[in-house]
Amino acid sequence: QNLKKSFQIKSKVLGVEKGVVNAVNGVNFRIDKGETLGLVGESGSGKSTTGRLILRLLEPTEGKILLEGKDISTIGNRAFRKMRKDLQIVFQNPYSALDYKMTIEDILIQPLQIFKIVSPVDYRQEVGRLLNMVGLTKQDAKKFPHEFSGGQRQRIGIARALSTKPKFVVCDEPVSALDVSVQSQILNLTMDLQEELGLSYLFIAHDLSVIRHVSNRVAVMYLGKIVEKGPVDTLFDDPKHPYTKALMSASPLPIPGRQLGRIELKGEIPSAMRIPSGCAFHTRCPYKMGVCEMTPPQMIALEEGRTVACHLYHEGVQL
Ligand code: SF4
Ligand code: MG
Repeated sequence: QNLKKSFQIKSKVLGVEKGVVNAVNGVNFRIDKGETLGLVGESGSGKSTTGRLILRLLEPTEGKILLEGKDISTIGNRAFRKMRKDLQIVFQNPYSALDYKMTIEDILIQPLQIFKIVSPVDYRQEVGRLLNMVGLTKQDAKKFPHEFSGGQRQRIGIARALSTKPKFVVCDEPVSALDVSVQSQILNLTMDLQEELGLSYLFIAHDLSVIRHVSNRVAVMYLGKIVEKGPVDTLFDDPKHPYTKALMSASPLPIPGRQLGRIELKGEIPSAMRIPSGCAFHTRCPYKMGVCEMTPPQMIALEEGRTVACHLYHEGVQL
């Protein structure tokens, strides 16, 4: 609820100027049990920061995070550490996310130990079960990360995330570093495990075809704000926000069922240090009106559980 995160950059480093980065600017969404919310947008839109805020890998500047109705953003660090097992993350890069000096067994035992998931006598059996669950075998336990392909390493990353029996998992671009040929295998694995284990996912990706494949509902993010939300099929068939339309026009893959005039996505996403006034998309929007530069559009509810933040829409009708 109303999640915000700003960073101070105090001195000029690596060509980044001084100032305040408003990475997340008031994000609201709900994810139901067993559901996947797809979070999509260009890089620099604040998707990963949002995922990290929910897991408290970063402390929010403002806002609440509720897990099963309980506000977990105000729980002290020690108490939160126990809840950590309920909230896990699968990272984008399976190469850097696994310690190359550790065997797969040691990598998987670590969380079992920290969170006391099973007793030490059962570690080996549990490691075998986790490896089977992600399509590997117990013979793989003694190997090191470099002995596996990218897709297999991501399977290990998934096994590690699920070793603590979480309720909620942030999948942060889990296939974007992988060959296209193995992407769908990993996506299908995450979806099968979700169904089997009743997991809820926040699935972050910039690739629309990935988002369409895995999501029940989709939230589109631009410069730290969600500009449109809705069920996956209606959102893809009939995108409402000009930014969503532009993203779909820019997608290299044909999106089935898509019927819209193409909108060119002009230029680069502005810096999160200089977010445009009013509607942050106005510098790139072909529909820009006078009001857009001055007044930020509010989220408006449309039909069928859809919401959009754009001055073209007003209480359920398109102007
Ligand atoms: Fe475009 Fe205005 Fe809508 Fe923003 S509010 S997306 S600038 S029409
Ligand atoms: Mg990211």
